[in-house]
Amino acid sequence: MSDESKRQEDSAGTDSATTPMMRQYLEIKRQYPDTLVLYRLGDFYEMFFDDARRASELLDLTLTRRGTNNGDPIPMCGIPYHALDNYLSRLIRQGESAVLCEQVGDPRTHKGMLERKISRVVTPGTATDDGIIPDRSDNNIACVCRKGRLFGLAVMSVTSGEFRCYETREGKELRLAIDRATPAELAFPEDLEQEGIAPEIRSRKRLAPWYFDQDNCTAALCKHFGTTRLSGFGLDGVTAGICAAGALLAYVSETQKAPLHHVRRLSLDNPVAYVVMDSAAVRNLELVTNLRGEESGTLVSVLDRTRTAMGHRCLRRMVTTPLRDNAALNERLDVVEALMGEGCGDLGALLEQVADLERITARIALGSARPKDLAALRDALTLLPEVAATLQKSGSPALVARATQFPDLGNAHQLLLGALQDNPSTLLRDGNVIADGYSKELDALRDLMNGSEGLLREIESRERERTGIATLKVGFNSIHGYYIETSRQKGDQVPADYIRRQTMKNTERFITPELKELEERTLSAKEQALDLERELYEGLISRLQGQLEPLGTLSSQLSHLDVALSLARVGKERGYCRPTFTTGSSLHITKGRHPVVECLGRAPFIPNDLELGDTRMYLITGPNMGGKSTFMRQNALIAIMARIGSLVPAERAEVGDIDRIFTRIGSSDDLAAGRSTFMVEMEEAAAILNNATAHSLILMDEIGRGTSTQEGEAIATAIAHHLVTQSRAMSLFSTHYAGITALAEHQQTVRNVCFAADEFMGKIVFLYEAKEGIQSYSYAIEVATLAGLPLEILKEARDLLNGRRKRQRKGVAAQPPAEA
Ligand code: ATP
Repeated sequence: MSDESKRQEDSAGTDSATTPMMRQYLEIKRQYPDTLVLYRLGDFYEMFFDDARRASELLDLTLTRRGTNNGDPIPMCGIPYHALDNYLSRLIRQGESAVLCEQVGDPRTHKGMLERKISRVVTPGTATDDGIIPDRSDNNIACVCRKGRLFGLAVMSVTSGEFRCYETREGKELRLAIDRATPAELAFPEDLEQEGIAPEIRSRKRLAPWYFDQDNCTAALCKHFGTTRLSGFGLDGVTAGICAAGALLAYVSETQKAPLHHVRRLSLDNPVAYVVMDSAAVRNLELVTNLRGEESGTLVSVLDRTRTAMGHRCLRRMVTTPLRDNAALNERLDVVEALMGEGCGDLGALLEQVADLERITARIALGSARPKDLAALRDALTLLPEVAATLQKSGSPALVARATQFPDLGNAHQLLLGALQDNPSTLLRDGNVIADGYSKELDALRDLMNGSEGLLREIESRERERTGIATLKVGFNSIHGYYIETSRQKGDQVPADYIRRQTMKNTERFITPELKELEERTLSAKEQALDLERELYEGLISRLQGQLEPLGTLSSQLSHLDVALSLARVGKERGYCRPTFTTGSSLHITKGRHPVVECLGRAPFIPNDLELGDTRMYLITGPNMGGKSTFMRQNALIAIMARIGSLVPAERAEVGDIDRIFTRIGSSDDLAAGRSTFMVEMEEAAAILNNATAHSLILMDEIGRGTSTQEGEAIATAIAHHLVTQSRAMSLFSTHYAGITALAEHQQTVRNVCFAADEFMGKIVFLYEAKEGIQSYSYAIEVATLAGLPLEILKEARDLLNGRRKRQRKGVAAQPPAEA
């Protein structure tokens, strides 16, 4: 909070001109000094002082004022209540959090100032509402702490209930685990040096150190899970991880203002189970987003034919966490292969009708599910037997097994069928949510409401007859209640018991004692019905909360089925093959293709082989644009696809056990962190050399470029030598330094492979075929010609190159041309 705002607020508390409402606001603001407080005032959520200034900038809102404080106008800006989700999602995307402060009680009946209550705190990592967070990506929150030499990390997805923790002594392992979680928000103890930890996460929450007390955290976690110890979760001996998890659970519960019923277990993250990739590898291989941050041209975009949002998120998760467990992968592939057959009818069309059960389950748990959510759940459960029957019909053992594993949610289904209207209102406060026949009391109140509607028409025809005014109408509006309306001319002909209520331009409105009584009865019936509907709805939610475990299981099963069907479709269409797995340190691919480049359809894709086993390194040379990077990436992508349980673009693929995939691709400055291009390159290379094992797959694309040729080549040669002789990792090493290729003369495990190009009628032609040997000529000037470099520059470059070559032969360095 700025000094100015603090001064205003401090003085506001003592200013006699300060209204009770402003005092109430300031009291709430004091509890949330760092978060925007959205204070409900009638149809708006208002913000004041610094919050108003900040929000007006972030949301492009008009800054107004409300009264004065010590003579200074109080800045104010507001958002209409019905547009809240839209504004919240914009705040969340900018890494901001907001406290929602609602009015308690009915403003129509309440006298004096309404009480206000914090309904929830919406933060980037804990938001759950559709329309606020993206439905196509996970929304995770992470919490880090340090206990002695151990780092603890906990990660939660409030929208799915997934909750895991992890601890490590190594800062870089912590970094990798945070990378894997891609959290939208990071919480940490306020006394932790945290600037260096995941600085790219904008939304950061400082928590008081007591949140991380180990005894309190253990007790709170046990209480939450209803256990006496945490050993059932495999957490014996875990300390920092438990502290991070306990603190995270406490913080998230505070934001939701509701118990997190759907968070049903805490698992210990086991990085050994995955093929570990850091964020640079995920980015460079363009798995989820391309280098411009978009979804097109990525591995996910090629594999994605999912029909549900939860399936799409599941695919994204899978692609960034490939598995090392060969048996689990073969099980996944059995399902994918079975779904390629014709026997599955239109399973896709069925899945398309299934709603986002994962998020609906979370909202049921948090008590924030809307009527449409429950209707969507009901409809999904109605479809479930059809989905199961389709799988059964296929006759494939893998699919039949899946069908029999669906949890029994028959009771929940029956409950929803009986309780909900076919097409309930969007908002509970509008009524028409609970079905007729579910509650006798509600039916009776509705009869009264509907009956009075019928009665109105009865009164209308009776009064027309009595007064002889054929155009007389009996109507109702929410401000004036019931009325009899006649034209102004007929206004004098009405009986004596008509009491004039309103005179308008052409009409007059009256009330009668009979209508007054009806009004009272109907209005109270309507209110009672709404209250009762709310009560019944809450009861329904709490009964569904008893089914969170099977609901979670079902949403996970349907997500995986959706992904498997998607992989089957893509695999079939694109002629992929089923990979096989070994536990060795090898990667054998016959006629492999790049899954993304081949889809671009610019030209037929030329497949290539890879044999890494006895050979530990491919030293790849070739012209610019010759296909070196494409070849390296396609092999990494094929390995990843295999290890998520997908079919792969190759004729044959045998994929060994891979612990990590490292990439050193592309060059970029990190000027903000004071690191030059070359420094970034060397730091990344150092991380690879220090961590690679014989089971790692390494892609090194032109290392040593950002410095002088001689020094660059020397460093690149030494790195290649180390990788082959020490790490013995599976390495794909592309270079324009022909000198490095001499390595193959001494190291039998190194193979020189080149991508050739030819010149045809003065034009360069790329062959894209990986051949044994070396290609030292880069055809850079020919490629620059294709890129449209001005002709005079190309000529000058060619002259310089030819001159340099001649001089090199004579031992003199190249010179720039003399000034004209
Ligand atoms: P540079 O040395 O300039 O970085 P490079 O050798 O790494 O170039 P790539 O970027 O892999 O070249 O390939 C350039 C383009 O060639 C690709 O974008 C793709 O369109 C095409 N290409 C690469 N490999 C193949 C292939 N096997 N079949 C068909 N087209 C290919």
